[in-house]
Amino acid sequence: MAGFRSLARQVRDPGCDTALRRYSLRKCLERFAPYGHRATWDHLCRRHGFGPEDREADPSRLVAALDELEAARSVWLAYEREFAERRRREKHGGLRRPGGLDEWHRRIWGGNGVARCDDPARHPSQPLPEVVRRLVDALRNGPGEHCPVCAGPRIEWRSELRDEPWFGPVCEDCGVLIPRGLLTARALARTRGDVSVRLASVA
Ligand SMILES: [Zn+2]
Repeated sequence: MAGFRSLARQVRDPGCDTALRRYSLRKCLERFAPYGHRATWDHLCRRHGFGPEDREADPSRLVAALDELEAARSVWLAYEREFAERRRREKHGGLRRPGGLDEWHRRIWGGNGVARCDDPARHPSQPLPEVVRRLVDALRNGPGEHCPVCAGPRIEWRSELRDEPWFGPVCEDCGVLIPRGLLTARALARTRGDVSVRLASVA
């Protein structure tokens, strides 16, 4: 199975025909797609002005889309290296953390679905590297009250997602599924409609 970098080389290769270059860009999304495959493809198509099924897309647009994807990937991979190093040190020191975020890291290792969007047509509009950077900042800073990507306060618990993990807190403003470990216990309870928390926040 071709890796991200060899697929990226094909996207940039003027000797390949356009359909193959486009196909290779789509294959890159099987290796790294922050919003999940379909939503990330939708984002790249809109942002770089080619149609989702356009086999004659201007190759320079395909390359611009790849540049954006690759920049986001390097932000994420740098974070993964840092995370792996930190966990090694912590384990060495006998520190065990409660499961949540570690399990999430295992599931999305490599960067697929770090900011999964359940609805492929609904995702943040900022450039991918910016979105990934915001998420990485939140992972470094610990749990908060709002969406780590858009800072929106409207977070709803969804129990019928199309993809793994099938349920979880989703931002009503930008559409990303928020890793549970990035929300405080209070914010999480609020998404689940915990009445006592709602009352407490009104008081
Ligand atoms: Zn958001």
